[in-house]
Amino acid sequence: MNRLTDKIAFVTGGSRGIGASIVRRLATEGADVAFTYTHSAPQAEALVAELASTGRRALAIRADSGNTAAIRAAVAETVAQFGRIDVLVNNAGLFITGTVDDAAADLAAFDRQLAVNVAGVAATVRAAVPFIGEGGRIISIGSTGGSRAPFPGIADYVATKAAVAAYTRGWARDLGSKGITVNVIQPGNIDTDMNPATSDFAPAQAAGTALGRYGRVEEIAATVAFLASAEASYITGATINVDGGQSA
Ligand code: NDP
Repeated sequence: MNRLTDKIAFVTGGSRGIGASIVRRLATEGADVAFTYTHSAPQAEALVAELASTGRRALAIRADSGNTAAIRAAVAETVAQFGRIDVLVNNAGLFITGTVDDAAADLAAFDRQLAVNVAGVAATVRAAVPFIGEGGRIISIGSTGGSRAPFPGIADYVATKAAVAAYTRGWARDLGSKGITVNVIQPGNIDTDMNPATSDFAPAQAAGTALGRYGRVEEIAATVAFLASAEASYITGATINVDGGQSA
């Protein structure tokens, strides 16, 4: 499908996993895509080359979502190259576990998770909004953990994703008068480096879904593409679970 012809997309954390699939899908739909990454430069460069070979413009920017100045610079570089942003996808995120009663918990890791998953999303939206016009889209990748905590050790992570869902509702109200929609996709278990379908932990996770399996990155990207398109023009402030029925 070509639902995003000549749109400009900006995706955080696009070098691997769900983010890379989103970048590919938005480009397949006709968008030019800028994306950020932190460590995976070879994957980022390969993805830029892949998109360029299809005729789409692509830009990979090293920018840590935990660093507000880096986020602002990445948005500025995107606007300098492409002129505006039509679709913002907040995808970059960390998953750091630990129970609240663990005296040896790594509090710096907790702070880092908050900085990337919450402050980074808010900073990206603040930086990008001046360049998003009527018909624009803001789509964040939350987690079903934003609505439920099915096992111990994930309180900090699920709290960050609940914050993203709450921000989504607030931003939908803030930006509705400008014709910008704001939604959050809550993935369930998706096979990536963060949550491999081959881990010891995976069978129990798959068994907890109605469909009895992990999700694929393309299944999240397809939902992003739909929300980014004109077909989703009356959806805003919504939380959309893409989880194989994990939440059913
Ligand atoms: P991966 O760890 O597989 O990939 C993460 C991507 O984000 C990489 O491209 C990575 O780039 C980038 N990234 C990580 N930290 C930063 C940062 N500080 N600044 C910029 N980019 C960064 O994760 P997934 O693809 O699995 O997850 C993507 C999103 O989906 C996350 O928000 C996650 O919380 C959410 N999610 C994932 C689920 C799953 O089961 N996989 C379930 C529910 C939600 P680099 O390699 O360069 O560091």
